[in-house]
Amino acid sequence: MLLRKDKGWNADDGRFDYDAIVIGTGVGGIYQLYRLKQAGLRVLALEAAKGVGGVWWWNRYPGARLDSEAPSYGYSFSPELLEEWDWSERFAAQPELQRYFDYVVDRFDLRPHIQFDTLVTAAHYQSDEQGWALTTERGDHYRCRYLIAAVGPLTLPSYPPIPGRESFAGETCHTSRWPDREVSFAGKRVAVVGTGATGVQVIQEAAKSAAQLYVFQRTPNYCAPLNNAPVAQEEQPAVKARYPEMIAACRSTNSWFIHDPDPRSVFDLSDEEREAFLEKLYAEPGIGIWKANFSDIAVDPAANEVVSDFMRRKIRERVKDTETAERLTPRSYGFGTRRVPLETRYYEVYNQPNVQLIDVNETPIERITPSSIVTSEAELDVDIIVYATGFDAVTGSFDRIDIRGVDGARLKDKWEHGPQTFLGVHAAGFPNFFMVGGPLASLGNFTPALEFSVNWIMDLLDFMSAKGLPCVDAKPEAEREWTDFVREGQAKLLISSVKSWITGFNTNKEGKDEFRVLLYVGSAKDYRKWCADVKEGDYRQFSFDCGGAAGEGQERASVAMDSARS
Ligand code: NAP
Repeated sequence: MLLRKDKGWNADDGRFDYDAIVIGTGVGGIYQLYRLKQAGLRVLALEAAKGVGGVWWWNRYPGARLDSEAPSYGYSFSPELLEEWDWSERFAAQPELQRYFDYVVDRFDLRPHIQFDTLVTAAHYQSDEQGWALTTERGDHYRCRYLIAAVGPLTLPSYPPIPGRESFAGETCHTSRWPDREVSFAGKRVAVVGTGATGVQVIQEAAKSAAQLYVFQRTPNYCAPLNNAPVAQEEQPAVKARYPEMIAACRSTNSWFIHDPDPRSVFDLSDEEREAFLEKLYAEPGIGIWKANFSDIAVDPAANEVVSDFMRRKIRERVKDTETAERLTPRSYGFGTRRVPLETRYYEVYNQPNVQLIDVNETPIERITPSSIVTSEAELDVDIIVYATGFDAVTGSFDRIDIRGVDGARLKDKWEHGPQTFLGVHAAGFPNFFMVGGPLASLGNFTPALEFSVNWIMDLLDFMSAKGLPCVDAKPEAEREWTDFVREGQAKLLISSVKSWITGFNTNKEGKDEFRVLLYVGSAKDYRKWCADVKEGDYRQFSFDCGGAAGEGQERASVAMDSARS
C-alpha cells in the first residue's frame, strides 16, 4: 500500500508536519504506527513514557503478568514475528512483555518515528485545514491531517483521597507508575491498598519476602488460579503449530480471548456434572473460568449464584482462618460481574504469619503519617505503601488532553454524561480523529481487539484514498445508534449494577464515581458484524464533507493510498 502523491494532497504541501500522528505506543499504538508507516504515510508517534509498551511500560510492578495466553496476546499481523518470538511461559511476566514490545518496534524500524517523553496536552481540529494542531507539555506544536489516539483505557492512576497521603516519608509506589528500578520488599513492612487484578499480583510477590504485609481490602474479589507454567524450548514447535488455530479463535470468539462461553445453562447439568465442569475450569490455565463458563451466569442471578457459591467454597477451602476467609469472600455481587483476578497461591498468602488482611469497611484508614497508616483500630508502622488502587479508566486518558473538534467543541464536555462514540473509534464532530480501543469499543483480550481496531481505521483510510476523500466524520445518528446499542446491551447484564472500573467507579475523583457505560461489554461477534456491515455498506454512517476546506480543498486535499489489497 503506497501513498499516491500524484492524487493530490500530501504532507509536502507545507500545511502539515505529518500525515498522521499517533498518540501512545502501547499495544495498539505500535501496530497503528506500523500500519501507517507501511502505507507510506509520514507518521509520528508521541509517547509520554521513556519507552514503548504503554500499560506494560508503566505497570512494571513485581508480579505484573499476563492472564491471556501469551501467544494470543502477541501480535498476529506478521508471520515472521510469530515464528521468531518464543514465549517462555504460558502467561508472560512484564519483563518479557517489555522485551517483546522493544523487539517489535526495532524489528519493524519504528523507533525513529517515535518521540518519547512527550505528553500531548492539547489537540484542536482546524476546520479550514481539515487537520489537527497538537501541543505538547513542553510547548512543541505539530500539525497533522489524521490524529489517532491510542491512549489506552487503563492509563491514568487513581489514588485514594486519604488524609496525609502526601506526607508519607517512606517509599510510595502506585502500581501503574512503578519506578524504573528495583523496589525490594525484603524484610520491609509493606502496605498494599487495593485488591483488584493488580493488587492480587503484587500481594503475592510482596508476601514472599516482606517482614510484614498489611493488605487493605475494600471489596473482595472472586479470584481464580492462573495455572501458569514455563514453556520449554523443545515445546516451541508444537506450541507454534497451534498458532493458526489460536489466532482464528481470538478473531471469532465473543471476548477476543481463545475462550467462548459454554452455551449450556447452569441448570442443564446435574449437580455432579456441573461440579465436575467447574472443577475442570478451575484447574485449567487462564481465564476460561470466566470466559468459558456457562453463558447464563452473565444474565440470570439464580444461575450466577450457583457458580458464585462454587467460587466461595474454593476460597474457604484455601484460607485456614475462618474470619479471614469470610472477609475474602464476596457476597454482595455475583461471580464474573467484575473482572476476575487470576492468581498463583493468592489465597494461601493469608495463611502466612507475616500477612494481615484489613477490611477498610470494618476498619477504615483514617490518615497517613510520615511513618505509618492509622486505622480506626491501630497505628501501623510501614516502610513502603503500594497503591494498587486502579485507574481513572477509559475516559481519563482522553480527559487529560484538551481535545476540541468542530467549532471548538470539547470532547470532555461531549462525554460529560458518559462517552458517546461510533464503534469506540469515532466521535461525531471530531473529523479525522480516530481512537484505537476508545470508549465503547469492544475489548477483552487486548491485542486481537486492538489489531482489529487498527485494521478498521486503515480500511477506512483506504476507502477514502480510493475516492479522493480528505476528511471523515461519524454522523451523529450513527454515533447515537451505537451508543444506545451499547448502553441498552449493558443494562441487560448483571454487570450493569455492580461497581467496578468497568462501570465507572474507582476514579477516586469527587463526583465522578457513578454508574457509566464505558466499554462495549457485549459480544465481540456482534461488534465485528456491525463493523463488517458498515464497511460493506460503503461507510454510509460517515460524512466525508467535514466543512471548512471542502470543495476546492477537497480535490487538493486527498490523501491517496493504494488499496490495502495491492
Ligand atoms: P481495579 O480493578 O480498579 O482495583 C482497584 C482496587 O483498589 C480495588 O480493590 C478497589 O476497591 C481499591 N480501591 C480503589 N480506591 C480505593 C479507596 N479509595 N479505598 C480503598 N480501596 C480502594 O484496578 P486494577 O487492580 O489496577 O485492575 C484494573 C484492570 O487492569 C483489571 O481489571 C484488568 O483489566 C487490568 N489488569 C490486567 C492484568 C493482566 O492482564 N494480567 C493485571 C492487572 C490488571 P473496590 O474493589 O472496592 O473498588
